[in-house]
Amino acid sequence: MSKHHKHSKYGPQLVVEAPEHFTLQVLNHAEKSGAKVGAKVAKRALKNARGSGTELNAVQTDELLLAAQQAGAAAAIAAARRVLGKSLGSKEPMRQGIDVDHTSLQSERNTTSSTNHGFGQHVLTVKRVERLSPEMIRVIASAKQLAGYRPNGKADQYVKVFFADPELGLKAPYDLKALRRSLPREKVPCTRSYTIRWIDQEAEELAIDFVLHGDGGPGSAWASSAKPGDPLVISASRGKFSPSNNVDNYVFAADEAGIPAVSVAMGMLRKDAKGVALLEVDGPESEFDIDHPSGIELRWVHRNGFRPGTSDVLSEAFSRLAPPSTSTSVMVHAERSMAKAISYMASSWELNKREVHVSSYWTLRIKRPRTQRQ
Ligand SMILES: Cc1cc2nc3c(=O)[nH]c(=O)nc-3n(C[C@H](O)[C@H](O)[C@H](O)COP(=O)(O)OP(=O)(O)OC[C@H]3O[C@@H](n4cnc5c(N)ncnc54)[C@H](O)[C@@H]3O)c2cc1C
Repeated sequence: MSKHHKHSKYGPQLVVEAPEHFTLQVLNHAEKSGAKVGAKVAKRALKNARGSGTELNAVQTDELLLAAQQAGAAAAIAAARRVLGKSLGSKEPMRQGIDVDHTSLQSERNTTSSTNHGFGQHVLTVKRVERLSPEMIRVIASAKQLAGYRPNGKADQYVKVFFADPELGLKAPYDLKALRRSLPREKVPCTRSYTIRWIDQEAEELAIDFVLHGDGGPGSAWASSAKPGDPLVISASRGKFSPSNNVDNYVFAADEAGIPAVSVAMGMLRKDAKGVALLEVDGPESEFDIDHPSGIELRWVHRNGFRPGTSDVLSEAFSRLAPPSTSTSVMVHAERSMAKAISYMASSWELNKREVHVSSYWTLRIKRPRTQRQ
């Protein structure tokens, strides 16, 4: 069989390497489109459910979206398989080493392709770890072609990072659907959101800056012991905001969790951009180098030993800013109540809403000692 030939059934313009290659392309396409539709339907359902008292938390929402993506992908693959079976004159078109059943398609891809992604996950390997400050580390991971990860180019580009209990010895990517059936809920890999700090396509590397808050969360715990050779499992890219280049002034505000996104944004600005970045860290020893246009003043604000999320130094610093010109872009990423307070202040500046991006990046949860019921 010639390696390259035209498949007349699909039009003369379509050159395929071999029927099995073509079939895999169609199935890949079906999988992606199905996943998109699944997520869209689930998002609509979530939107409709708002206010009905059945709202889900962030983790449940994420799991639901992932399940919807997988269901959509599986349905689309099944439909594509039926059509391919008819068109190629066989009920099982992919006998030559590629099974088109959804789960086996994923594992086949993981073992035979040059990238390593399945179940909407991209599996990279930690290459090195750099300490930025006592509370922050940068994890640099790599994979051939970034394991299929496609950057979206936004300033707040982020991913869900998957964390699995190392004691279970699970191999990534994780078949969450199957794992949910076989493991207790608390043992199923979980996710947390992290900003992509930078990507070097040539070196096939990407970096994520993790806050080490030492508060028992899986993200912080994983990062504090990350070492070369560990897998870094990430979702597809998310995030939509980049500050406009057509404003005269910028105001940024972030605590450690938001500093990576604000740093990416500052790196995207014109060289002559002007403004201020309020950056909350514990103290002077926690400040670190960030590339920024010289006209953006970095103003570090210090919690001075207060636990993150319990000090209002960031909102206080924000409240001291003079109201800027209406041609200003505002980007705020911080703990929930801090982000809320700053959002309220920024709304009094009456800026173009599209230029104001305030996002809660984490929620302070205080463990209270158990008290006896009265
Ligand atoms: C879009 C987006 C992008 C983000 N980008 C980054 C990023 O690049 N780097 C980064 O480090 N974080 C980032 N975050 C925040 C991160 O997702 C949360 O901090 C997350 O809760 C960390 O998970 P965990 O498993 O460590 O802790 P969790 O299990 O979520 O929480 C455990 C405990 O830790 C506390 N806690 C959680 N986060 C913090 C924190 N930052 N400081 C102090 N205490 C905390 C909670 O109050 C809770 O009591 C981002 C969040 C979003 C929404």
